[in-house]
Amino acid sequence: MKKTFETDLLVIGGGAAGLCAAAEAAGAGANVTVIESDLHPGGQLVKQTHKFFGSRDEYAGTRGYKIAEILLDEIKSLGDKVDIRCNSTVTGYYPEDGVFTVMKGEDEYYRIKAKKAVMATGAQERMIPFTNNDLPGVYGAGAVQTLMNVYGVVPGKKVIMVGAGNIGLIVSYQLAQAGVEVAAVVEAMPKIGGYWVHAAKIRRLGIPILLRHTVVEATGDKVLDGAVIQELDDKFQLIGEPVKVDCDIICMAVGLTPTTELFWQAGCKMQFVPQLCGYVPFRDKTMRTSCPDMWVAGDASGIEEASAAMVEGRIAGHSAAAALGLKTDAKKFDEYWTRLDHLRAGEVGEKILAGIGQVLVSGWEA
Ligand SMILES: Cc1cc2nc3c(=O)[nH]c(=O)nc-3n(C[C@H](O)[C@H](O)[C@H](O)COP(=O)(O)OP(=O)(O)OC[C@H]3O[C@@H](n4cnc5c(N)ncnc54)[C@H](O)[C@@H]3O)c2cc1C
Repeated sequence: MKKTFETDLLVIGGGAAGLCAAAEAAGAGANVTVIESDLHPGGQLVKQTHKFFGSRDEYAGTRGYKIAEILLDEIKSLGDKVDIRCNSTVTGYYPEDGVFTVMKGEDEYYRIKAKKAVMATGAQERMIPFTNNDLPGVYGAGAVQTLMNVYGVVPGKKVIMVGAGNIGLIVSYQLAQAGVEVAAVVEAMPKIGGYWVHAAKIRRLGIPILLRHTVVEATGDKVLDGAVIQELDDKFQLIGEPVKVDCDIICMAVGLTPTTELFWQAGCKMQFVPQLCGYVPFRDKTMRTSCPDMWVAGDASGIEEASAAMVEGRIAGHSAAAALGLKTDAKKFDEYWTRLDHLRAGEVGEKILAGIGQVLVSGWEA
């Protein structure tokens, strides 16, 4: 370990939340370093070719990858306040000396000492257990999107999609657009979890959505050549006869879980919150965690949408800038919370709010 690099604000993760945190804090005058594992900034946004829902303030109606470009333009307009370092991963945090370790590429290591940090590490895809689920040909939906929409590579010829939430529905549609046959979408729940507009689009293409069904086995020797699917009863027990479907891809879209390793290392107070899809850090309204110099934003704070991730990033960046002693506009903080409240209206929002209620503290000093 050779160099130690110093920065005012370290933002870990250059997705929707991290880029907004960086823009907000730099706008207030902070010197910001963004560390991003991927080869380019933008996080999940860069693989989203569809137009986003949400509110106009969060670019509803704009394609995901275009939103990433808008955020990067905002950052560029701030001059050299933000240093974005891609192909670099924060591998550890050492609370005893306040040092983060970074691996750049595969063989360069250095340390960062930051006065404050916003951790916007996003989420990881979930898997479900079934026989042979490690055969080549079993993909996460995020990997399929990255292959198709970032690198222009079609992953196979025929797919069984597992999961009828928004991700499963959108990726099924994108696979069909790319010429891949979608044999069926199987969903364990008795109803479709995603928006009806996405379900209607794939039904119009003649793709069946099989509710109360799951995949029980991937078949094949060295690579996948089929999926065995089976019906479930209302207690999620297998019923009926298993059916083999020939295919060369099983695509798993069974949910995401927050990426929180660094919060655990830092000793942040954590709790498992089912509505937020995993363990998440406690936070106050400024998105500050129980570690006073660390903030959380985006999917790392609980799985929601890019719109909420962007506003949380703004709040975290605003608050971290204020904690650095920079002048910030208190009205903006209220405005961001109003936006979040709008985004969290409705049935899905109720679930999110019930989850956030379990980890939101009124203030760490209280
Ligand atoms: C198919 C699909 C469709 C979607 N459609 C919509 C939609 O229509 N509308 C909407 O609002 N939202 C949508 N979303 C959700 C949205 O994409 C996410 O909620 C949003 O991207 C979360 O932003 P984030 O910054 O928290 O995480 P991410 O975008 O995941 O960014 C996190 C970043 O952190 C980096 N990272 C993680 N750990 C480290 C580390 N240790 N060191 C360095 N870098 C690290 C990752 O590489 C990643 O780039 C969709 C998601 C999917 C998968």
